[in-house]
Amino acid sequence: QSAQFKSTLKVKNDSQKKKVAIIGGGLSGLACAKYLSDAGHEPTVYEARDVLGGKVSAWQDEDGDWIETGLHIFFGAYPNVMNMFAELGIHDRLQWKIHQMIFAMQELPGEFTTFDFIPGIPAPFNFGLAILMNQKMLTLGEKIQTAPPLLPMLIEGQSFIDAQDELSVTQFMRKYGMPERINEEVFIAMAKALDFIDPDKLSMTVVLTAMNRFLNESNGLQMAFLDGNQSDRLCKPMTDHIEKNGGKVLVNSPIKEIVTNEDGSVKHLLLRSGEEIVADEYVSAMPVDIVKRMTPKRWQNMPYFRQLDELEGIPVINLHMWFDKKLKAVDHLCFSRSPLLSVYADMSVTCKEYEDPDKSMLELVFAPCSPLAGGNVNWIGKSDEEIIDATMGELARLFPTEIANDPEWPATSEQGPAGTAKLLKYAVVKVPRSVYAAIPGRNKYRPSQTTPIPNFSMCGCFTSQKFLGSMEGATLAGKLAAEVVANRALGNPDKPVKEIQQHIIDASASYEAR
Ligand code: FAD
Repeated sequence: QSAQFKSTLKVKNDSQKKKVAIIGGGLSGLACAKYLSDAGHEPTVYEARDVLGGKVSAWQDEDGDWIETGLHIFFGAYPNVMNMFAELGIHDRLQWKIHQMIFAMQELPGEFTTFDFIPGIPAPFNFGLAILMNQKMLTLGEKIQTAPPLLPMLIEGQSFIDAQDELSVTQFMRKYGMPERINEEVFIAMAKALDFIDPDKLSMTVVLTAMNRFLNESNGLQMAFLDGNQSDRLCKPMTDHIEKNGGKVLVNSPIKEIVTNEDGSVKHLLLRSGEEIVADEYVSAMPVDIVKRMTPKRWQNMPYFRQLDELEGIPVINLHMWFDKKLKAVDHLCFSRSPLLSVYADMSVTCKEYEDPDKSMLELVFAPCSPLAGGNVNWIGKSDEEIIDATMGELARLFPTEIANDPEWPATSEQGPAGTAKLLKYAVVKVPRSVYAAIPGRNKYRPSQTTPIPNFSMCGCFTSQKFLGSMEGATLAGKLAAEVVANRALGNPDKPVKEIQQHIIDASASYEAR
């Protein structure tokens, strides 16, 4: 799984050129189209909504302010994303922040502590040193107790990481005698940032995968913000690139049905408008929950598609809150370490396009949002006002001198106590099913980009690739699906379909026998 699309996969003559219909204009579908167009094929992306980007989509409200589906951070250890940005000539759109991780202090409102990565110290020692130098989060004894269970991840690598998928983070900690406090100090924040889920629900493989990818490169954990809204600054250059190479990207084009031939191959796609789309190859770049709904009847009992029942999207909420004054915020991502929030940033400081010298705009990830993700409140079903009021309570701890948590003055009221920042407006974006819920035991059900259908491939960040459900994972999956199509076009043998669990094969066989 290299970061470079193989140049040997380019078409050599017109007869090898394929018309490819890609369902879904998120990062994965767009990446797939980009690499197919680079290889000389003719992809068309069909996006259901009026905006591209899926989970990285953004749109403007009536005041012209951008609303984003998610607060997105890019990491140094995102080789496929970095490569794609360089190929698109937009690498200067990443605003790299100082190599540091910032955590709110749980017991000390308004105070923060950091892991500082010293330039020039190679990975993974820079991470070890960053943890050792931090005096506020863990005692030396706790630090020493934490390291040994994590060492096999660095020494044995992927086989150790994969073997931990059946355990939650909490179960792993107990099994290896890690101090309980590391959970409150680090793992809750990490789990909520990685998958919007609590550590007793999250597979340990996710934490180990992240650590392994981030710790193998000296700048792996360095973070960058895009310099503006994801629509213009990321999706647009991808679209321009695809179209310049002869491909097409269409919005407002929902696919209603995948229509099959007698032999099970795809005959055509049916748009909701009634139009039929015929192509040589078809790629699904839809999220897993929608793929399950759209699977044609003929395919439903095939083990490859049956395994998708084991995957489902996790809910998350992304908030934007505009204040009438500048809050004491830093030019970085902060781990809130509060019960309802995950990470947040003052976008008026961190992102060039949203810069404002007088007012703050906080973008915050609200998690966990439902009992599936942890906690016992189904926040995803609550009203925007309830969510904002609860968030104000948490913000009062992060900004104790500027934000009041006063029941007399609900966040949404016209004025607040004197001297405090007033909430001018807010936007609540609910994503009821975002990235797949990485609860224990899920990795084995993530499907390969090659499917058993001869003219149909699949991408999306939930498909099998060595990164998590992330922008890097979506980009890599799109590239891998493009490789499947490009290989086939050249007459090369298909990469095999990933092994499917025996109990899924057995269930499929017993259904068939009925
Ligand atoms: P999607 O983005 O879901 O794209 C699927 C597309 O298919 C959508 O555009 C959808 O409209 C379209 N579609 C669905 N059905 C049809 C149909 N029938 N016809 C046509 N089109 C259809 N990742 C990071 O790396 N770093 C982060 O900091 C980060 N933060 C996040 C914060 C939030 C709040 C969220 C929600 C996600 C975050 N992620 C982050 C994850 C990242 O956004 C996703 O992993 C990635 O964008 C998924 O891309 P995708 O193309 O696989 O899926």
